[in-house]
Amino acid sequence: MLELRDVQVVFDGFRALDGVDLTVPEGELRFLIGPNGAGKTTLIDVITGLTRPASGSVRFGGDDLVGRKEHQIVRLGVGRTFQTSVVFEELTVLENLDLAASFRKPLWSLTRRRKGVSEAVEEALARTGLEELAGSSAGVLSHGQRQWLEIGMLLAQRPRLLLLDEPVAGMSKDERERTGELLTQIADDHTVIVVEHDMDFLRRHASKVTVLHEGKVLVEGSVEQVSADPRVQEVYLGR
Ligand code: ADP
Repeated sequence: MLELRDVQVVFDGFRALDGVDLTVPEGELRFLIGPNGAGKTTLIDVITGLTRPASGSVRFGGDDLVGRKEHQIVRLGVGRTFQTSVVFEELTVLENLDLAASFRKPLWSLTRRRKGVSEAVEEALARTGLEELAGSSAGVLSHGQRQWLEIGMLLAQRPRLLLLDEPVAGMSKDERERTGELLTQIADDHTVIVVEHDMDFLRRHASKVTVLHEGKVLVEGSVEQVSADPRVQEVYLGR
């Protein structure tokens, strides 16, 4: 379970997060929305150790994350995607997954790893549906397949919590649909937080949504509840 209490982040006197409370139970698929500048990226940065809050607590499982370094937080089982790609185009799909999996291991284990594909990599391949492309160069993947590979690379690191930043941006309708199914399936045995703007996608795939606005949680609930909320319509949907 992830639990943020009264988290404040201040940049040069500006409150990017202003007393955020957020609880995401284990195994939940939670969507995070809000207009530009609402604090969504800052929130993810705080959870992953990129930004240190001025005050407040961030707990994951039994651990307090505040003050820990990014790599320590990865080791505690928190993985994230960035809007910039981390895929190595000159490597194959399998090699990318294998490389990602090895980041949680000590360097000396790299020599032992070559015997076969690790279980984590096999599972990541199967889940993302990329088995048939395992030997293909990542450079030839479609945009959607590449996004799935990025999610697969996270899965190969065996996280318990995944933080995904706009995973369906730029995808075709079919790819979005598959991604929605993939996220739901991943949430069977992981906690997943997804930043996403596409309301159609949310209506089809989100069960619970948190709306951020001006560094605060404005409202939380089902997609129907939040999209019917007048405060959300005002700040987010621009009505
Ligand atoms: P969102 O992801 O919801 O668009 P952000 O978390 O990126 O919002 O930003 C929240 C606010 O904090 C914005 O007003 C942004 O300009 C400001 N901000 C974010 N990072 C920094 C930083 N490193 N220095 C100063 N201001 C920042």
